[in-house]
Amino acid sequence: ALPQTTPDSLASGRADALHRRGLMLILSSPSGAGKTTIAKRLLAHDPQIEASVSATTRPIRPGEVDGRDYHFVDRAEFDRMVEANEFYEWAEVFGNCYGTPKAHIRARLKEGGDTLFDIDWQGTQQLYQKAEADVVRVFILPPSIEELRRRLTGRGTDSAEVIAARMARAKAEISHWDGYDYVVVNDDVDACYAQICQILAAERLKRARQTGLIGFVRELTRA
Ligand code: 5GP
Repeated sequence: ALPQTTPDSLASGRADALHRRGLMLILSSPSGAGKTTIAKRLLAHDPQIEASVSATTRPIRPGEVDGRDYHFVDRAEFDRMVEANEFYEWAEVFGNCYGTPKAHIRARLKEGGDTLFDIDWQGTQQLYQKAEADVVRVFILPPSIEELRRRLTGRGTDSAEVIAARMARAKAEISHWDGYDYVVVNDDVDACYAQICQILAAERLKRARQTGLIGFVRELTRA
């Protein structure tokens, strides 16, 4: 179990002593390294972290929920948000716009809540430039080239060209692993998940994030 510095501390009446600043946890990996499984498990088991919800101009798809999968906005509203500097980063993908709104994440940072980002190395660089002190960057590697190829081969119905293109994209993503703080090899999903929980636990205990302890330490050192 992860140490609960918040919100359990709030319930125990030691909110001021134990309050910490939240963090922004970025998970990146080539597709086929198991990132989505890890992200889902983290979100299901750790009440202190929630997924970042992007804004997009693309039409809502069947099964999607506004505010859960994306904030669906029209182009005028998206342009207004860009002008008002309301995004950490944004990009146009296949003719639609996508962006990471700042407001909710900033409020969570202050409250001691963490936010999970499932983004590529370019998005990671942009977030890091805007919020360096709050960002924790984790890269997940596949255990081997053979295993990556096996995972990207899928159901076996794709052509050799399609699989080769996926492999090339995966290798390009892996080449940016040096832009991360932590790297975890996913040869066993349980072990990989446990390591990411350890990273999260240690990052939450960083002195700079334990803002609520300043007054407490002043008390301890006064006597
Ligand atoms: P989809 O429309 O299929 O949900 O997503 C299309 C693409 O947009 C994906 O490659 C996804 O990674 C990217 N995307 C989703 N949200 C954001 C965002 O907030 N910022 C950026 N830069 N790309 C995003």
